[in-house]
Amino acid sequence: MKLASLETDIVLLPNDEPLAGFSENPNAKNPIVTLRLRTDDGIEGLGVAYFGGALTRTLRQAIDALGALALGEDPLRIEAVARKLRDAAGSSGPGGILTMAMSAIDVALWDIKGKALGLPLWKLLGGGRDRIPTYASGALRRGLKLDEAVTAAGRLREKGYRQTKMQLGLPGITSPAREVEQARLIREACGPDMDLMCDINQRWRPEQAIDIGRRVEDAGVGLFWLEDVTTHDDYAGLARVTAALATPVAGGEYLWGIVPFRHMVEARSVDIVMIDQVRSGGITPWLKIAGMAEAFNLPVVSHGVPEIHIHLVGAVPNGLTVEYMPRLFALWKDVPQPVDGDLLMPTDPGLGLEFDQAAIDKYRA
Ligand SMILES: [Mg+2]
Repeated sequence: MKLASLETDIVLLPNDEPLAGFSENPNAKNPIVTLRLRTDDGIEGLGVAYFGGALTRTLRQAIDALGALALGEDPLRIEAVARKLRDAAGSSGPGGILTMAMSAIDVALWDIKGKALGLPLWKLLGGGRDRIPTYASGALRRGLKLDEAVTAAGRLREKGYRQTKMQLGLPGITSPAREVEQARLIREACGPDMDLMCDINQRWRPEQAIDIGRRVEDAGVGLFWLEDVTTHDDYAGLARVTAALATPVAGGEYLWGIVPFRHMVEARSVDIVMIDQVRSGGITPWLKIAGMAEAFNLPVVSHGVPEIHIHLVGAVPNGLTVEYMPRLFALWKDVPQPVDGDLLMPTDPGLGLEFDQAAIDKYRA
């Protein structure tokens, strides 16, 4: 079997919020590059890449150029293909556009492998679980009005979600008291039994994170984790926060490739390692990072695209929960749906996903 052809597209997906109904920015569009990578015996592997922003066309060109180099190669030899592409890319990596483009190709190759072997990806990768917890994400963003966020939290509870994530590091004039009050009101709305995560998206200084984090603890909010409390590569600053708080600290979605995770876990910067399959460079590096975290006695969680990450978090022994972020759902004919707060492992071979061609035609840039 050899790789025979590829096809990419750019789609601009609407920025709606289907879980609770309040979008922070309903007029925004999310640019996504889609990839179809085909073999000479008719198997099609799917991949996606995003985070390109104004450079999305450049990201697509990178996928086209690297994909062309992969043609003629054996799709089952994923490390050999990756090595060839990395070598050919000169010094354009290791992070950024190169890593994101490598991710789309790596995911498509794993999809091909699963289809060629007739196995769902999670089973091919280790097959750790039948089902995996999932948390509603993106529904309680900091840009919502407080009453919208509180209403949204109540809706998530009514819909049966057992875990969800809010955000602090509020926009505009804020104070520790306002931050704590936001957390308290959202906790009240989602109820005492919901696991409640809270994302700071790098907006605090380490000392602010310790101060507000302690106040949130004292208010009895009971966070499941506090995420990206400060600049992602301030490993020592993160470690100070992690040591100071009883609340688990999560981080890792902003790290590129494998090596930065070594620095993060060696410094004991986080209690929970979050891995993004696009920024890490695909499924292959994602699994290596998960293994590294396992060696440090740390659980791993995913960032974005639950339809792909379900296979990864569900495959490894230290997978904790899947972020249920529906941002790319419009692309697919069907996606995994939560059942009593869990996602059931897919049964179709490979990713078990199919592009919705009508959606691609509708949203094509
Ligand atoms: Mg985050």
